[in-house]
Amino acid sequence: MKNPVPNTPSGLRLPPGFLERRHLPAELDFWVDERDGEIILQPRLPDVEKLYIEVTTGCNLQCATCIRNVWSDPDSEMSLQTFERILAGLDGLPELKRVVFTSFGEPLTHPHILKMIAAVRRRGLAVTLGSNGLLLRSNIARELVRLGVDRVMVSIDGGSPQAYEQVRGASLSPVIENLLALNAAKRELKSLFPTLGIESVILKSNVHLLTRIASLASQLNASKLLVSNVLAYTEAMFREALYGHEPQEAMRVDVWPARADAWVMWATVDLPRMHWGAERRCRFVKDRAMVVSWDGRVTPCYALSHNYSYFAIDGRKKQVGRYVLGDVHQDSLADIWMSREYCGFRSAVNAFYFPSCPDCDLRETCDLRERNEGCWGWNPSCADCLWAQDIVKCP
Ligand code: SF4
Ligand code: SF4
Ligand code: SF4
Repeated sequence: MKNPVPNTPSGLRLPPGFLERRHLPAELDFWVDERDGEIILQPRLPDVEKLYIEVTTGCNLQCATCIRNVWSDPDSEMSLQTFERILAGLDGLPELKRVVFTSFGEPLTHPHILKMIAAVRRRGLAVTLGSNGLLLRSNIARELVRLGVDRVMVSIDGGSPQAYEQVRGASLSPVIENLLALNAAKRELKSLFPTLGIESVILKSNVHLLTRIASLASQLNASKLLVSNVLAYTEAMFREALYGHEPQEAMRVDVWPARADAWVMWATVDLPRMHWGAERRCRFVKDRAMVVSWDGRVTPCYALSHNYSYFAIDGRKKQVGRYVLGDVHQDSLADIWMSREYCGFRSAVNAFYFPSCPDCDLRETCDLRERNEGCWGWNPSCADCLWAQDIVKCP
């Protein structure tokens, strides 16, 4: 079907009660599709709630865990012209709540990152900044406080200076100094924001230090600790991966009270699943998130935003191709989000209409799997996705 079907007397008419119960507007059109003999209506609504912006693919580090070791994409940064196109598209997304400046690159290496954050804040949107923390010096910290950035997520892998250096090839102490300076800037400017979150990738070689990371997060008054498994881009990292196909004992970390001015709240610790499970759920699609890369192209998630290879849960090497659903230089963000292909993809992911390759008898030989395609039809396939398993996590 080429054109969307309107919910009007001349097209498809849905009962008013049905629309009301689902908080859907009376004037609504749909893409009509079919899956296994069932008719599916995909509402065309500009209901994006979260926007990830990758302002750069460049970074001041070269971590052993990073996708940048294996991808075939260039080190590039977003131009101000592309960013203006994104800004122009924000007005068409009335339900947008948060913009997340993070990516496979360090946002603070972009010369105009503060200008970009300011432009988003002027529109009243919450901002999260993801960073490795090394460039988060006191002058930058003060600006982030002044701009009302809501949350800063800093990556700290390994709970000791040695373990950190082993993964990141850099020293941990400047990061800690910078985060203490951020706390000082908040005190000085009498602000509770940005709240601090710590992200940590656990490996066989550093998992015994997890309690030390929690303790460091507590000392830094972080309100959140997000722990993720590694997505194994290299064989060395596959050997470091802790998860497996079979169930294993879940991890435990004690939470700590985080001070927030006159009151105290419990910090949250978000731990990953450690084995392949029956339940699959895509946070990007469920959170109504979209990703805009440095070149203005739109992809549905981190996992499909670059060209790279990685090792699936059983060690099978997969080649992933970037899945581009639009370009902000050609279409508005709303039109890209409501396009037939993007609505169809979200519908397939919401229903998780993909096989489970790690459970398939052909998993070791199937060529489709090697190319990140699937045998149920929709390509690219989410069948091996570790993000949908909650084994790999992101803010
Ligand atoms: S800081 Fe992040 S983007 Fe930079 S090399 Fe490390 S993992 Fe990659
Ligand atoms: S794509 Fe299909 S046939 Fe191939 S491994 Fe996955 S489930 Fe099996
Ligand atoms: S399931 Fe995985 S690959 Fe599919 S959209 Fe979600 S994050 Fe991307």
